[in-house]
Parts: sequence; C-alpha cells; structure tokens
Amino acid sequence: MLVDSSGRVDRDFNGLLKKLHPWLSEPPAQALQQALKDLCAAWERRYALRFGAPRFRKKGEGQTLRLPQDCAYNAADGTLRLPKLGEVRLRHSRQALGEIKNVTLRKERGRWVAALQTERELEVLPPTATAAVGLDFGAVTTIMPSDDSLAPIELPQRIGRYERRMRRQQQVVSRRRKGSKNRRKAVARLARLHARIAAMRRDFLHKETTKVVGAHALVAIEDLAVKNMTASAAGTAQEPGKNVKQKAGLNRTILRNGWSMARNMLEYKAAWRGVMLVAVPPAYTSQQCSACGFSDAGNRASQARFACLACGHNENADRNAAKNILRRAQEQLGVVGAEPDAQPDGRPARTAGYAGTQACEGAGTSKDAPRRRPRSAARGASVRAPLAGTISELSLSGNLHA
Ligand SMILES: [Zn+2]
Repeated sequence: MLVDSSGRVDRDFNGLLKKLHPWLSEPPAQALQQALKDLCAAWERRYALRFGAPRFRKKGEGQTLRLPQDCAYNAADGTLRLPKLGEVRLRHSRQALGEIKNVTLRKERGRWVAALQTERELEVLPPTATAAVGLDFGAVTTIMPSDDSLAPIELPQRIGRYERRMRRQQQVVSRRRKGSKNRRKAVARLARLHARIAAMRRDFLHKETTKVVGAHALVAIEDLAVKNMTASAAGTAQEPGKNVKQKAGLNRTILRNGWSMARNMLEYKAAWRGVMLVAVPPAYTSQQCSACGFSDAGNRASQARFACLACGHNENADRNAAKNILRRAQEQLGVVGAEPDAQPDGRPARTAGYAGTQACEGAGTSKDAPRRRPRSAARGASVRAPLAGTISELSLSGNLHA
C-alpha cells in the first residue's frame, strides 16, 4: 500500500524511490508524495469507474508539480513563496481570495503557471432572475437554449481557423525527421496552437456559462453518461483535444470535449449564485416532439430539422431537444405535470408548461419554494440544490517571473 486510508504516503517506499532515482530528492518532498497520491487515485478510478489505466509519461510531458503546504501568497506584492524554490514573482490573472489550500505549478507554452486553490466562505443569495432554460449541447448548434427568443450559442469562428492551422502544422511535424532540431521546433509550434485553441474554448465556455447562470433561476442540461464521455476523456485527460486532431472540424467532437468542462463550470457557478442546475436523462431528447410528446426515430427529418410525424410540429432539431430537456427537468422538480398528451386537435396540452422561458416557482420568491426542493430530492432527481457554506475555489494566478 503506497498510500494508506488517511492519505499518508508510505515513507519507506518514498525513500526507496529516492535511492533508485537520486534526482527525486531535488523537488520538495510533498510534491513527490502528491504525485504518488495522484497515481493511486488514477488506479482507483481505473478499477472503480473503468477509466483507462494511467500510462507512463514521456520526458518533458505533463510538467506539473503540486505543493500542498508551506506555500505563502502575498497578493499585494504579487509574490509566492514556495518550498525549496523561495520567493517568486507572479503576474496576476486575478487575485486569489481566501485561504491557500495548495499550489500547482504547470509548464505551459514555455512558461510556468501557478494555480492557487483557495477556500473561503461565500454567502449564496437567491438568484434575481426567475427564468428557466434547457440547454442542448448539439450536433449542429454548439449550445442551443430552449427559449425561442435566445439565439443559438456558437463557438467563435476563429477556433475553426486555428484548428485548420493546427492540422497543417501536424503534417509539418510528421514530415520532419525524428529527433531533429526542426522537428522539435515544429512540435513546439503545434503545442502553442493546441494551447491557444484550448484557451479559446475555455474562454468561450466561461463567458457563456456565466451569462446563462446570471439570467436564470433554473438551468437544465442532459446528464450524459460517463461511459459516453470516457472515450474522449481518456484521450483528453493527458492529451487534451486528441479527438479534435483526428476528426476534422466536427462541432460535435469539440463539444463532447467541452461538455464536461461546461457542466463543471455550470455546477460551481450555479452553486455560487443559488441557481438550480438539473441534469436529466438524455434518452430520446432528440427524437421526442416537444409539442405533443410523440417519440419516434422518424421525427428527425434531417440532422438539423425536427418534424413530428404525429402533430406536424416542425422546428430546429436542437431547439426541440433543448425544450425536452427543460420539460424533463421541470417534471423532475414537480414544477409541471407528467408527459404532455396531445389534444384531439393536435395542439399541445400545456403550451405554457414547456414553451421556453417562464417563471420558475422554485426561485426563492414563492412561499412554497422550500417545500419543493426536498420533495424533488426525494424523487431521486439529479438536482444540484444551492448550498451555503464553504466552497473551494480555483484561482488562476498568471505567469511566474522567477
Ligand atoms: Zn408532435
């Protein structure tokens, strides 16, 4: 056992490693312990969640170092004191607030970046917005809101441009002789493009999730299965965007990679603002009619278009899916009733119930809101109810100036 149940690393093993590889004594001792803990966690994920096994790293790959203690941060001076390294200057991306929990150093595009994880108390206020929205992470549209008045959210076009550039650069790399200086240069250029695209995508998701959470009291998304995501996640954990490289310009792939990041952002941003995030079962959201509830594979006239075989309802396929997602979330919460039934004349049974944005009764203004939340939880709905209390926050604090 390398790491016992209380998270302590076996001292003898640590000592043995250092004897075998004397250079391991150079970094701070806790960094080595952290690496062993991470390795143990990776193997546990492998067996518990059927993730891919951790693989060996090439030299120069995955250059990160996490320091769990003895770090001091001085926001006013913009300095960070680290064990064995001493005091280093930071260029802030923003100031870290709260008590420092750990510091991760990461080499990115030839520069060292420090990520400070801090902890502080946040007061969570009820959201000021009352609207509810369903989001579909689509094949055609990047993110489609259920509300007809909200425009589809698309990835910035320049990302596609950079991806084309990256594919060309990949060809350049493959033409260079292995081990040559020019190949190394080409690889470095490719890595810069890679990081640039990842940063653009992250920036895009940050902006859009902030907007969505700020304007709604209830946000519904699909609860995509872990199994579906591991195929790409296995590649992304160690080598982000691997799928993007292989499959040319597919919005879907980009999104599948961005989905878990977006969900993660929505989760903590919703918690900060007291917004409810509900994840619903994704089955048949793209085949079901949002107007009458009729579900059939034939309802999809094309990839982009939805045309109901029962009632003739015709609309953008992603918009239709987003409406289904919102309605399912509201059903889980008990805000609206069960499946919609088609009326004899083919009109939807409850137009107001799921026609996009409407007042969400669980928004803290309604008298019976407190009663609703526990009940929905008892039904087993996947609800992230806002919680007051301590929230761990990750603050990125720019580049280091050693
Ligand atoms: Zn229909």
